[in-house]
Amino acid sequence: MSVWDEVVGQEKAVAALQEAAVHARATLNGVETASRAMTHAWLVTGPPGSGRSTAARAFVAALQCTHPQVIGCGECDGCRHVMAKTHPDVTDFATEKSIISIEEVRAFMHNAQSAPSQGKWRVILLEDADRMQERTSNLLLKAIEEPPARTVWVLCAPSPEDLITTIRSRCRQVNLRIPPVKQVAQLLMRRHGVSYEDAYQAAALAQSHIGIASKLITDPEKLHDRYTQIESILDIDNIGDAVFYVEELLKENKENVEKDLATRNAREEAELKRTLGLNDTERIPPALRSQLTQLQEEQKRRVTRATKDPLDQLLVNLLSFFRDVMVIQTGMNHPPINQGYVNLLENVARGSTLADTYRKVTAIETARKRLQTNTSINLVFEALIADLIR
Ligand SMILES: [Zn+2]
Repeated sequence: MSVWDEVVGQEKAVAALQEAAVHARATLNGVETASRAMTHAWLVTGPPGSGRSTAARAFVAALQCTHPQVIGCGECDGCRHVMAKTHPDVTDFATEKSIISIEEVRAFMHNAQSAPSQGKWRVILLEDADRMQERTSNLLLKAIEEPPARTVWVLCAPSPEDLITTIRSRCRQVNLRIPPVKQVAQLLMRRHGVSYEDAYQAAALAQSHIGIASKLITDPEKLHDRYTQIESILDIDNIGDAVFYVEELLKENKENVEKDLATRNAREEAELKRTLGLNDTERIPPALRSQLTQLQEEQKRRVTRATKDPLDQLLVNLLSFFRDVMVIQTGMNHPPINQGYVNLLENVARGSTLADTYRKVTAIETARKRLQTNTSINLVFEALIADLIR
């Protein structure tokens, strides 16, 4: 067993991080080394589901590992505490908010200044380093520029471009790739004790997104929902129905997201009132209302963010469906990813041409890109369905 077991399909990144951990250990033992493998600021990037935080945490565990030979053994107290997020010298931060506040960054900087209590490294692991405004980023930059000798910053973000150039240039970058389906399947087998076939199908359907693949394995309802959605979209044959479908889809999606977030939002408001010295039923006086407004804006941004995730997932599902259609139309001898729907795939393949399918795949890819911009979500989906039924 080792801390690297869960980091799948990232041989190159793992090699760099392992080498750094070995040199970090040598430094602690007072061994002079000319190697630059270890550094005090890291930036781990990779597409969603590629395992950024898992890789970052494995690295931090290897830094804190106390095993005399196997660095990152996965069994010593150091490794186990890092993996359980309970290590006293590690600040392990992930946020559900859409922005990391300046106060939070100040707290990290404060932690970064204190010497490690266990004699190894003081580590600040920031999972969502892309969620910082410029002012906050500039503050963080100062901390990264001149850290104490035993302090290490590990930042994670989807891509290097998500951080300001000055931070990026001071960090050693480790880029993760989308892991191969086979390796994700093997991970799912180990984690969930399922057969290779089931694990492979989930990994393929999730397009190697480890979190989504795990959900498909543990919650078969999800698999069913996904086909219901694809079938409803395939049934649409005119623009009027498309507009209606999109309205319903977005309404339902928004309701689900708001329901999920309602408890958390209410809790945050109650907490805010407590901080302001008010009880739950008291109204916030006008002079303090701007703080409530700020919180509500933050919550609105979070809803927008959360609203896009299931919609992007729907697009990913559609993509995998039409890629399967393409495979059949090209006559390739390749098992479809959507194995549960072979009949439907074959019908769609017979009823259209390869050029049609190619056009649809391109339209879905465009819709995915537009979904991440400020374009109205209704427009993105209406345009997409119009393209699909053309
Ligand atoms: Zn260990």
